[in-house]
Amino acid sequence: MTATKHDWTKEEILEIYNKPLMELLYEAATIHREYHDPNTVQVSTLLSIKTGGCPEDCGYCPQAARYHTNVEGNDLMSVQQVKAQALRAKSSGSSRVCMGAAWRNVKDGPEFDQVLEMVRTINKLDMEVCCTLGMVTENQAKRLAEAGLYAYNHNLDTSEEYYKEVISTRGYEDRLQTIENVRKTNVTVCSGGIIGMGESVEDRAGMLVALSTLNPQPESVPINALVAVDGTPMEDQKPVEIWEMIRMVATSRIVMPKTQVRLSAGRTEMSREGQAMCFFAGANSIFAGDKLLTTPNPDVNEDMEMFKQLGLNPQKAFVKAPQPKTVEANESTHQSLGEKPKWTRPGHTIERNETAKQKASLLPKE
Ligand code: SF4
Repeated sequence: MTATKHDWTKEEILEIYNKPLMELLYEAATIHREYHDPNTVQVSTLLSIKTGGCPEDCGYCPQAARYHTNVEGNDLMSVQQVKAQALRAKSSGSSRVCMGAAWRNVKDGPEFDQVLEMVRTINKLDMEVCCTLGMVTENQAKRLAEAGLYAYNHNLDTSEEYYKEVISTRGYEDRLQTIENVRKTNVTVCSGGIIGMGESVEDRAGMLVALSTLNPQPESVPINALVAVDGTPMEDQKPVEIWEMIRMVATSRIVMPKTQVRLSAGRTEMSREGQAMCFFAGANSIFAGDKLLTTPNPDVNEDMEMFKQLGLNPQKAFVKAPQPKTVEANESTHQSLGEKPKWTRPGHTIERNETAKQKASLLPKE
């Protein structure tokens, strides 16, 4: 196996992304086979444990409280509810549960304690547990690790330059700092982005530079196609073409050979043939379940039918890294420090975010 390269430049990545498609596919598929079983794809379930009402202004997100979308907010789910959903996911072939909460950052307190209990519960079901809860401090990351967390997701979303056109309530450096905090534990890193937000191909390459030059590279990289939701600032964005997804997946595979590349949001718009090409190009994970947090996703039975048709097998849990040990709450060595970290708040103006916010404020209150 060739050694992983950590000094990719934007020019090198652009050269790969823009190769003639057949060459790109051949190169990506060859690398994929060197590092992974090409007939195995992980099935993960994404669970929204706390939906909506988020204070952030991410331009793609229907959960941001300031935009008017049809997302119904929900308080934090109970541990029992999460356990029931995890068991259902396991019985339909998922080996990983990713819990998402619409928070800016984790705050020490009863809600975080409840999430830690969810992590313990799912790890005991012998499933990989991932969380996406916003920014975390080093101590919070250590507490999640002790509970048995397998992965922490914190997406870079796009390039550093284009990030300023998407979000004004936090900075790119906060994202990198959170990833660094997670890296101080044994929890694996999941970080990727979204294409189709109006960014250039250079921005896509810029995001891949930011991810691939991390050392170690993230164990998991989700590649999402924007699902343009009514009421969000990006409601009028044109859908991503399948060729762009294939190129993005293939390029990610080439620059991050060991990483699990996740074909994430936007699959409802993709044909089976399109998805098959993404698997050939190096995607080795999908999210199952009819909802991806709040946006539509193919039905799990449809996915299993596709697996059968393509001769794919769902990946078992803990194939890529060992199962973490769970430390019970009363034996934990990392307690709450009651921190009040100062995450940045750039607060610059993003025209389309402002327009969507104003449109929402003019609507009658329900
Ligand atoms: S992407 Fe996450 S942080 Fe951004 S608005 Fe949505 S829920 Fe909040």
